[in-house]
Amino acid sequence: MQKRKEKKIQFRKKTSAYIIGMALLLFLSGLDLPNFGQESGVEMENKITLVPIGDIKAETLKVLSSHLKETFSSQVKIHEAMELPEEAYNPKREQYFSSRLMNKLRSFIKPEPEEKILGIADVDLYVHGLNFVFGEAELSGHFAIISLARLRQSFYGLPDDKPLFFERVKKEAVHELGHAFGLNHCPNPDCVMHFSNSLGDTDRKSASFCLRCLGILKKRAT
Ligand SMILES: [Zn+2]
Ligand SMILES: [Zn+2]
Repeated sequence: MQKRKEKKIQFRKKTSAYIIGMALLLFLSGLDLPNFGQESGVEMENKITLVPIGDIKAETLKVLSSHLKETFSSQVKIHEAMELPEEAYNPKREQYFSSRLMNKLRSFIKPEPEEKILGIADVDLYVHGLNFVFGEAELSGHFAIISLARLRQSFYGLPDDKPLFFERVKKEAVHELGHAFGLNHCPNPDCVMHFSNSLGDTDRKSASFCLRCLGILKKRAT
């Protein structure tokens, strides 16, 4: 009798685990729809201005600007370049201090109320307490910055791969701008707002927002 009861309980446990599993699967697959295309971009009235910091290739800016236009349904302008501030260079680390670049950017350009400014630097960046950063952004603010240095295969002694480089640039730019538009990190590993601890994480995620993040962005825009 006792055994039967146990079996029944076990069966119930298994069934409920199965139901929870299926529900979770459905929930996750609902969140995991990548690449919403042009129609499902974030429809809001906003402006994004790209500011090259130092010398940035025109092709990179062009690829980035059309991707951001589509993703944020936004006007994208390319501003004249800001000089790379040499005082931000730390010779001991052979890196530039990201927060100083951000400060310089803040005094270089005054944003309009709905404008987001993305600085693009081709030098390796760091902040205190971290070995390096791919980028930095003000949460719900105007300014964000990305570094291209670690997005190239050649940084790791591998042959360069242009399409892969552009994919990484898009992801880092959308991620940092996502913070500027008020998004925090997302637990969905396919979502562009997922935290990248390494380039492997960046390569694993898509260049698009998951439905949850897209929902938050659209809500903020209305
Ligand atoms: Zn982030
Ligand atoms: Zn997300």
